[in-house]
Parts: sequence; structure tokens; C-alpha cells
Amino acid sequence: MSHSSQHQLERGHALYPGTFDVLTLGHLDIVRRASTIFRRLTVAVAQNPGKAAPLFTVAERVEMLREAVADLANVDVASFEGLTVQFARRIGANVIVRGLRAVSDFEFELQMAMMNESLNPEICTVFMAPAPAYSFLSSSLVKEIARFGGDVAEYVPPHVAEKLINRLKENGVR
Ligand code: ADP
Repeated sequence: MSHSSQHQLERGHALYPGTFDVLTLGHLDIVRRASTIFRRLTVAVAQNPGKAAPLFTVAERVEMLREAVADLANVDVASFEGLTVQFARRIGANVIVRGLRAVSDFEFELQMAMMNESLNPEICTVFMAPAPAYSFLSSSLVKEIARFGGDVAEYVPPHVAEKLINRLKENGVR
């Protein structure tokens, strides 16, 4: 990469949107990578009415994210409703970051990126791959493991593991 394009990236404000129900070490791997590349990173919980009933409220997910990124000075956490590109424009972000784990993510992610590109060509999507250890991790898998009494300590930060187990107990499924 040339010196000038490196400089361009460092000036960027990136938005990493997602459901984050629950936050995993895979998500955080992407957050850390993006925080070293972009000047500023906003991680935002999408209030997605199309998704199945979440385990945690948006406020709870924001809180867990805040605790997880507290050591990263250029990262902030927010939530939004509606279109990602509209939120990106509102906060002045010019990049949308998404994680790509496997080919199975690719089709949906590319479709979203193309749609966002046509809605606002000034905002570009950047895909980042996590460390191989996280490439099989998903929020739904972690919830499934926890539900059946499995140990999730390897997959989520400690404060998330605790909240996850407590929530499942509250719901009477553990
Ligand atoms: P969404 O409903 O927006 O897909 P998710 O919380 O499932 O929300 O994922 C948010 C983003 O994080 C997506 O780009 C997804 O591909 C990525 N992601 C999820 N899990 C991982 C992981 N283990 N490693 C890397 N990226 C991940």
C-alpha cells in the first residue's frame, strides 16, 4: 500500500454495524483490527425488527460492547434504527466494516454491500477476516452451546459469558 492510501485510511471514520446478540470474540477481533486501520470506529447495534427475538435488549448489547471496547481510545458504541447507510451518513462515517468468516457469509454480505453502494456510493464497504480461530464462531452457535450447558468461556468475553448464563437462567432454559 502506498503511503498516501495508508494516510487516507487513517483519516477514515468506519462504522461496524451488527446485531451483536451476543457479542463474541469474533466480533471483537474485527473491532480490534478495524481500530488499528481507521482513525475512528463506531460499533453500532442495529435494531433489526426482521430478526428473531433477541436474548438481550439493544441497551444491554450496547452496554456489553462498551465494556468490551473500553481500552480502545478510538472506538465508540452506538445503536441505530433504519438503514445502515443513513446512520453512517448521520455520524459522518465513510466506511462500513463487515466481517467475513467463510464463503457462506459471502453471498449475503456482497448483496448488502451492493445495495448499500447503490443507496450511497460515497460510503464503501470493507470486509475483514477474523483470526482462523474465530472463523467458525457465530452468536447463534454460542447461544446454542450456552443453552445446553456448554462452556462458552473460549468464545465470548467474561462479562458477556456471565450475563449470558444469567439471562438463560432467568428465562428458565438453563
Ligand atoms: P448481523 O445481523 O448484522 O449479521 P451479527 O452480529 O451476526 O449481525 O454480525 C455482525 C458482523 O460481524 C457481520 O459482518 C458478521 O459477518 C460479523 N461476524 C460475526 N461473527 C463473526 C466472527 N466470528 N468473526 C468475524 N466476523 C464475524
